[in-house]
Amino acid sequence: MIDLHSHTNSSDGTLTPAQLVALAKAQNLEALAITDHDTFEGYDAAVPLAEAAGLDLVCGIEVSTRFRGKSVHLLGYFLNHPPMEHFRTWLFLLQESRRERNNEMVRKLNDMGIGIRLEEVEMLGRSITGRPHFARALVQQGYCKSIEDAFRIYLGEGARAHVERKEVNLPEAITLVRDGGGIPVLAHPIRLGKEDRAEEERWIAEFVDSGLLGLEVYHSDHKQVDVERYQSYTRKYQLAPTGGSDYHGDNKPDIQLGEGRKGNLNVPFSILDDLRRRFPDN
Ligand code: AMP
Ligand code: ZN
Ligand code: FE
Ligand code: FE
Repeated sequence: MIDLHSHTNSSDGTLTPAQLVALAKAQNLEALAITDHDTFEGYDAAVPLAEAAGLDLVCGIEVSTRFRGKSVHLLGYFLNHPPMEHFRTWLFLLQESRRERNNEMVRKLNDMGIGIRLEEVEMLGRSITGRPHFARALVQQGYCKSIEDAFRIYLGEGARAHVERKEVNLPEAITLVRDGGGIPVLAHPIRLGKEDRAEEERWIAEFVDSGLLGLEVYHSDHKQVDVERYQSYTRKYQLAPTGGSDYHGDNKPDIQLGEGRKGNLNVPFSILDDLRRRFPDN
């Protein structure tokens, strides 16, 4: 079993890279991809630890993009090979724009009489500080009863302290990943939220025209019918199938590394084998 979608506390997971590597070994995973949001910090830290533990570690990233007003997540694999400087520079710019946004959210909260400081929020995050860390700070300081309340009242889309995040368009992000030497893969396609399956397929076909190379067929949120539908798209559009749990530690306690939700996941090593065959030197 492998897991090609996981998060450390470098983004919005709760385990350190060392703890995640140890968990992957304890679960007998044959390979693990760390796909933190907008940062390689967790992956970079895990490289020597995975090597010492004899774990096959895959370089990954997850970026939020926009497509026709919707937020769409894109995974990138194998970005540790040159030329990657260009891509890392882009990530740095993303982090700068997050910082501006975080300052603005602090200002909004302060204006409402909530005496929260950015340094306090940043202590909860690491290289990436986002709304989940704001939520935790609001709960810890007694302004909200729960994370859900924090999002409902202050941080959720349209809520009082919400600030839009600058996101690139999906086609642009696909190009950035490919120019960085990586494989762009559409994450959890079920979250496109297309009840109309014909429309879902049209969107995916458009992404393929923009250079998409893979589809996350296996995911904790996918039912068996979804898996079969996405498998058929990979054949029709010659996309590489990938899969992973989207493990976030205690931030999403119902999801287990490798096993997904209530064991609904079991991604075989052949998926990674196939990915490497399609894109040699990885
Ligand atoms: P950001 O990238 O800073 O906009 O934060 C996005 C993250 O916030 C998502 O990945 C979710 O983990 C989390 N999130 C968004 N909405 C909610 C919500 N209603 N309740 C809990 N977590 C949420
Ligand atoms: Zn996440
Ligand atoms: Fe995602
Ligand atoms: Fe994810």
